[in-house]
Order: sequence, then structure tokens, then C-alpha cells
Amino acid sequence: MAQLTDDCFAFGGQLMSVDDALALIAERLPVLAGIEHVPLHEADGRIAAEDVIAGIDIPPFDNSAVDGYAVRYADLASTGETRLSVEGRIAAGESGPEMREAPAAVRIFTGARMPGGADTVFMQEDVALDGTDVILPSGLKCGANRRLAGEDVARGSTVIVAGRRLSPMDLAIAAAIGRSSLAVRRRLRVAVFSTGNELAEPGASLAPGAIHDSNRVMLIAILKRIGAEVSDLGILRDDRTLLAARLAEAASAHDLILTSGGVSTGEEDHVKPAVESVGSLVFWRLGIKPGRPVAMGIVQGTPFVGLPGNPVAVYVTLLFVVRPLLARLGGENFAAPLGIPVRSSFAYRKKVGRREYVRISLRRSADGGLEAVKFPRDGAGVLTSLTDSDGLAALGDDVTRIEPGDMMEVYLHALLYG
Ligand code: AMP
Ligand code: MG
Repeated sequence: MAQLTDDCFAFGGQLMSVDDALALIAERLPVLAGIEHVPLHEADGRIAAEDVIAGIDIPPFDNSAVDGYAVRYADLASTGETRLSVEGRIAAGESGPEMREAPAAVRIFTGARMPGGADTVFMQEDVALDGTDVILPSGLKCGANRRLAGEDVARGSTVIVAGRRLSPMDLAIAAAIGRSSLAVRRRLRVAVFSTGNELAEPGASLAPGAIHDSNRVMLIAILKRIGAEVSDLGILRDDRTLLAARLAEAASAHDLILTSGGVSTGEEDHVKPAVESVGSLVFWRLGIKPGRPVAMGIVQGTPFVGLPGNPVAVYVTLLFVVRPLLARLGGENFAAPLGIPVRSSFAYRKKVGRREYVRISLRRSADGGLEAVKFPRDGAGVLTSLTDSDGLAALGDDVTRIEPGDMMEVYLHALLYG
């Protein structure tokens, strides 16, 4: 695995905008994921490691788009119906007849190769049969219902660009050009820890003052959906020496170490000093709410991100900070999802210099459009604000107020982690 050195990063300041942090990540972090070849049917969701070039045309030959009758346009009467005798038949997969010199039609089926000389196909629903003749209506254009070789994909063109997250449709196009396997990036190996003396595993009974660890299962589930190979490394107690040792241990076998909790500046927040004792911090406060304490660093050559403890802050920073970072490490051309422009139904005030994500639901407005309704409670620990909302409205660094009727960019949950 490529080793990162501490001097990958020149930044030594404290509060950083999310955009600056992401630019720094994109500039300074290398792609860590190697390349492997996988069969097509295992490539869904993987990151293409090389451009895929079409070695053949799609379609490979001119063919009919309908069931009907193939003709030479020049044989049709200039006005009124045309009567042609039906000579020959070609179905999909056959190598059928060529057109003769004399005017005639060929019975043809969808996907069948166009007979040499034919250029136009009448749909069977549009014609009448009379013995061995077909009677064709007027008005069809030359080339109608014919699919030309290479009209979908021309041989030599790029059908999949390196860095693309492969969709089921990408697999279809790879199959169409004859590929049975693809070069993809190796899955990133991500180590996930929770931190906090108050945390108990779900299923364990709660001692006074304890809560169940809910961050870890959400983090792991989202990371898996993004395509990572996750090591669940459990809960770490709030102990600097222990934290340092466990982070260092995790570094060698992973591409990224993720923790949640313990990155604020309280006496019980030991993650930052632990990272500094076995590596170095790059930033630890981002201009993002919920989520401001987000620590990024390097532990023995492996990137480290310490997420906040509150569940909503974990969700937001995972999607808007860790996701682009993983894309960089994993060789993915990642474009932040497009926000949907939606009208606000509420007024809101915020501080300049930080990006805020407001939990919202969508409803139909009086004019038939969509408007966003704010979840009534703001706390970064309110789990129901995630389960009972549709998504997040993003308010940019410079925005200080939103009034009812203002447009906002909305990200639906389902599109963020899918
Ligand atoms: P911390 O940043 O460690 O002070 O945590 C902030 C808040 O998040 C506290 O209320 C913690 O109890 C809570 N918290 C931290 N880690 C978790 C977790 N894994 N699951 C649920 N809540 C957590
Ligand atoms: Mg804590």
C-alpha cells in the first residue's frame, strides 16, 4: 500500500471550509486502491479502473427496429400505395437474402439484419397483405424503422470512463461490446471504531449512564453501500494510550481508519492527542454543521478521519467529507450529487463561514411544486430527525438567512448513500 507522509499536507491552521478540505484531499491524497479484474456480473457498483473502448459497433450491423417488411425506398410510388411481392424472409440471428434488382419486399423481424439493398422497413401493423403481395401505405420516410450499424456506439469510442462507479446499465453496454470482465479498483479497506466510555453494544444491558452504540452500525452500513470492505473494530474506551495503540494497529491493514466520538476539545476527548502521538493531524475543525469537530490525519501512513459523536453529525460528515475522501483513495471520479432546487417553507438564521445541513421533508406546495419543511428539532443527537425526514437542505458558507419562498438545494437521503 502507498504510504502517506505527514508532509503530504501543508495546512497547519484550525478551522477549514469543507471546500478547502476537499480540495486539499483531492490534491494531496493518492489513489490507494490497486486494480483487479472481475467478471461482469460482479462489477456492479465497482469503480472502473480503465477506460473501456468499444471494439465493435453497436449495433454491429444495420437491422430492423420492428416486425414488418423491408424495402428499397426508391421502389416506392411517389404518391399513393405501393404493391410489392414478398420475396424472402429474415428473422433475428439469420443471415438472410439480399434484395433483388427487381422491386420486392422482404418479410423481416425485429433485430434481423437488413437485407443488402433495403433501407426502409414498414411495420406489419401498417400494411395489408394480398396473396403473396404486400400493400404499403404512402408517407413513410426513407430509413424509417432501420437501426444503423454503430448508431448507438461507434467502434473505437469510449463507453465507460475510468473512475466511473459502474451501474447495471454500464454492465449492459460492456456486455454489448463483448466484454466478459472489467478492470476495477480494489475495494477500500476501512477500519471503523466507536469511542466512548458510555457506549454499550446493542443487545447488552445498559448500566447507569450508558447508551447503545448506534453510530457504528450506521457507518458500516453506509460504507458497505459505497462499496468499502469494512472491519468492525468495536468500541474503544476513552483512554489515550489505548486509543493510540489500537489506531496504530489498525493502520497497517487498512486504507482508512474511521472513528466516531471523542474529537471535541473536552477533557474526555482523547482521539486528537492519540492521533498526534502515533501520527499527525491535518485539520480537526471544519466549517460544517452539524459536525464541526472532524479530525483528519495520517496514522503511520494511513489516512485517519475522526468523526464527531452525535449521530446526525456522523451522518452528515460521513456523506459530505468522508465520501469524497473515499472516492479519492478509491480512484473514483466523484461528483457531489446535484441538489434539487426546492422552495423553503420556513425562515432560518445561520452563521456565516460554515455550511449547514438542515433536516427537511418535502411536501407539495400550492403551486404544484415542492417545498421543504424543516424537521422541528435541531439537535445533532436526534436520531428521529434522520428517520423521519426526507433529506438535507444545504445552506452555503456565505448564507446567513433563509426566508419562506427562498430556493434551497436539497439532497434526498436515498440519493446520498445509494
Ligand atoms: P463525544 O464527541 O464523544 O463527546 O460525543 C458526543 C455525543 O455523541 C455524546 O452524547 C455521545 O454519547 C454521543 N455518541 C458518541 N458516540 C456514539 C455512538 N457510537 N453512538 C451513539 N451516540 C454516540
Ligand atoms: Mg465521547
